[in-house]
Amino acid sequence: MGELKSIGVLTSGGDAPGMNATLRAVVRTGIYYGYKMLGIHKGYDGLMHGDIEEMSLRSVGDIIQRGGTILQTARSAEFATDAGMEKAMNIANVYEMDSLVVIGGDGSYRGAKDLAARGMNVIGLPGTIDNDISCTEYTIGYDTAMNTVLDAIDKIRDTSYSHERCSVLEVMGRKAGWIAINCGIAGGAEAVVLPENPFDIDQDIIKPIIDGRNRGKKHYLVILAEGVGGAVEIAKYIEEKTDIVTRATILGYIQRGGSPSLMDRVMGSRMGAFAVETLRAGRSNRIIAVQGGKIVDLDITEALNMKKGMDMELVELSRILAM
Ligand code: ATP
Repeated sequence: MGELKSIGVLTSGGDAPGMNATLRAVVRTGIYYGYKMLGIHKGYDGLMHGDIEEMSLRSVGDIIQRGGTILQTARSAEFATDAGMEKAMNIANVYEMDSLVVIGGDGSYRGAKDLAARGMNVIGLPGTIDNDISCTEYTIGYDTAMNTVLDAIDKIRDTSYSHERCSVLEVMGRKAGWIAINCGIAGGAEAVVLPENPFDIDQDIIKPIIDGRNRGKKHYLVILAEGVGGAVEIAKYIEEKTDIVTRATILGYIQRGGSPSLMDRVMGSRMGAFAVETLRAGRSNRIIAVQGGKIVDLDITEALNMKKGMDMELVELSRILAM
């Protein structure tokens, strides 16, 4: 790796609360060490089109508490083509950008890896509410999203109790049920349905509700991860089978917004600074991750090949405590 002078930073894929805190840490740590810091708007699309500004200490002021991403984000099919990559590298050369910090998910790291093959020094930072990045235990935005869901669960529980109803709540997570399982435990759900596990509606949803009713329960909560889908149909089925009035709520994009939690601000700040420290130490083409509770940097190819399964102890805990 040659001498480091100028670091670009972008946010890519789905937005997540805490991306701004992370960006702030990248920019301020970079400036602290004397690097020129370049903010790239709208992800890889902005890199291809030169939508780039030099960042100052002030340009990341007053953003630590803001959700979303001030740089904005985009998904770009063109960038994944050879022509798109060439465009991006040409722009990077015009700006004399030797390094690039990408805040996003696995898809964004694949793009970064392709840029690394063309000579860019890249670092990936995990930003997504779903906690679905294989190499890391924690992603920036995950804690805030879970707190948003928990707040909704507590509100739904009040009305569910008052009317002695059952509520089916669909939460985000297309392929990963991390939000669902943790919020199921924290919200006291009778059943949690995850994309990682096959489920039998009679055994896994109807039976715990009926058993609970026989033990004196007055209201019920079922959490579904988005990837399982069918909240409205499942609610109908529960009502038919149990005679308990059942309502479906799909939380949707509300889970992506809001002011980041303390945890997301602190983790974003620590991981953002760690990204710059990693480059400064002469390591590039790395993903910043949390493993065994520690912040580490991993080779990008190895990180992309890792697999992360659901924690079956959490699944079992949620089942036991639902009684
Ligand atoms: P999220 O988990 O929030 O969806 P992500 O980073 O996985 O985040 P993607 O939409 O998969 O989101 O990827 C973001 C962008 O990265 C894409 O729009 C594309 O420009 C680029 N990208 C994704 N996959 C590749 C790939 N295989 N090669 C090159 N670039 C890619």
